Amino acid sequence: MGQVASIGIDAGSTAVKIVGIDKSSRILFHITEPTEPKIEEQVKRLLRKIETELGVDISGIPITATGYGSSLILEARKRVTEITCHAKGVFTYFGHGGTLVDIGGQDSKVIVVGNRGQVIDFVMNDKCAAGTGRFLETTAWRLKIPVEEMGKLALSSSQEVPISSTCAVFAESEVISMLARGKALEAVIRGLHRALVKRVVAMIDNVGLVSPLILSGGVVCNEAVQKMIEEETGVKPLVPEHPQLMGAYGAAIMGLSEEV
Ligand code: ADP
Repeated sequence: MGQVASIGIDAGSTAVKIVGIDKSSRILFHITEPTEPKIEEQVKRLLRKIETELGVDISGIPITATGYGSSLILEARKRVTEITCHAKGVFTYFGHGGTLVDIGGQDSKVIVVGNRGQVIDFVMNDKCAAGTGRFLETTAWRLKIPVEEMGKLALSSSQEVPISSTCAVFAESEVISMLARGKALEAVIRGLHRALVKRVVAMIDNVGLVSPLILSGGVVCNEAVQKMIEEETGVKPLVPEHPQLMGAYGAAIMGLSEEV
């Protein structure tokens, strides 16, 4: 492994992501774990793991934190907002700006990223589970389907049962009632994805789509979400290899400079 020049930690509400980069912003290692209640102890444990298992001496390496738990990470030299980090991460990855849609476990954001990686405009939904990963997770948990399988299931059906509830709790009940009425599981799950994506696309419409469309966040690992965003916007989105890491990657990049 090359010389680690900066470490970014995205302490998200659902997952903790840690990325180490070299001075050219190349990713050298990354870790993703579900967020534990004691996030500060979890991060300490993961940093120790980086030292013992990867042989990285982290003393002297700048650590930059972002995400909802960032204030709890005492090892961080600086803290940067998720909006700035995601913008910086995808700008560095793709080399240009655009309209970035980040769908996380408990929030979603649409960020217009300028041609220097700066944030021009954004909207954020962190008040309601609709349009976030939680919207799919509640139903997945109830139906005992691994959340990673939900997208494949949705895409396996050519039929779609519309889900009209925008609230995650009501949508879960609607799904159960559709299944009780004999609707096919795949078609109902496909409808659930459509409801999530329509909510996200309403946010994109609020900001106004500046091409290209770029996706980040753990939920865009879901192939049905990617496909439906394309169907609903008419634009094929660009997706980085590791969409869930873009916040931590952006934080690591911020750590390379004195910029705050
Ligand atoms: P946060 O920063 O809010 O913690 P993340 O960007 O880490 O959120 O995304 C977490 C969400 O991504 C969760 O809702 C999780 O279910 C979803 N997710 C992660 N990996 C996958 C995957 N392979 N397929 C589908 N959903 C995924």
